[in-house]
Amino acid sequence: MPPLPKAQPSTVTAIYQAYEAANQHYDSLGISVGEIATECDRALWYGFRWASQPEVIDGRKLSIFRTGDRWEEVLVSDLERIGVEVWGQQNRVRLIGGHLRGKIDGICQGLPEAPKTIHLCEFKSSNDKGFKEITKKGCKKAKPLHYGQCQIGMHALGLSRALYMVVNKNDDSRYVERIEYDAEWCLRALARAQRIIESFDPPSRISEDPEFFGCRFCKHHAVCHTGAEPRLTCRSCIHATPEMSGDAHWSCSRWSKPLSVDEQKQACGTHLWLPGFIDGEQIDANEEEEWIEYRLRSGEIWRDGVTD
Ligand code: SF4
Ligand code: SF4
Repeated sequence: MPPLPKAQPSTVTAIYQAYEAANQHYDSLGISVGEIATECDRALWYGFRWASQPEVIDGRKLSIFRTGDRWEEVLVSDLERIGVEVWGQQNRVRLIGGHLRGKIDGICQGLPEAPKTIHLCEFKSSNDKGFKEITKKGCKKAKPLHYGQCQIGMHALGLSRALYMVVNKNDDSRYVERIEYDAEWCLRALARAQRIIESFDPPSRISEDPEFFGCRFCKHHAVCHTGAEPRLTCRSCIHATPEMSGDAHWSCSRWSKPLSVDEQKQACGTHLWLPGFIDGEQIDANEEEEWIEYRLRSGEIWRDGVTD
């Protein structure tokens, strides 16, 4: 018989639980700038439409996030120590009506390599394996999501260079890369994001195979590949539209009104699923009576909406 695993000391359990209790689950109001370079259009659409339940993050992982926040502060003081001026930490990025959104880590000037150039700052902490990969291949190839975050940050702030600074959590080595603004990359990324935001249908999958590597760890795997029921919110309703004016505003055509975030989370009794969320084909609909009928994958006929 293999040795029994040691029980986790109560103190450690209590610490992890305290992190979990303090953690606020929130839905992202739009597509995060840090995810803009995600390979799968459909994953971004599902995220934007709140298709899956928010991820439950365990206490140990939350502690890793807090450590990452502390490293950001250390990297700012590293720069200040060598005479670099840093400002604008946590300035907001809002694009495409606020539906593409995020925060920057800062802006700096006075780098020894280019003292006059103002840079966007992007700070990261990494394990040894990730750090070696970044050192070998550079940000664009090793960490495309970070590269996208730098590009869109520069675009939003009208800057031409980003300082990508990474610390190796194992041995405190630092990696620094100056990334040049790529207007073409940004325009393509923004056009793609706009298409995803404005689409009422889920975009194509990156693979039809649920075992495909890129799908296996996707948080929308169940909804996308196994027909799991998505979350019922206004964002999955045929009557909801993301508005292009304001800051991530949504409206409802059924009730002709804007939708607050709380209303979007609750939905209402006249919710009608966007057909792309149903695991089957639409076979009939009646606009006046507010129903849509489907033949489900199982062969069963199912009517969504008011039926009496
Ligand atoms: S499971 Fe695969 S195809 Fe579906 S959203 Fe995720 S990455 Fe895209
Ligand atoms: S009909 Fe109801 S569920 Fe649909 S968008 Fe309007 S308020 Fe939300």
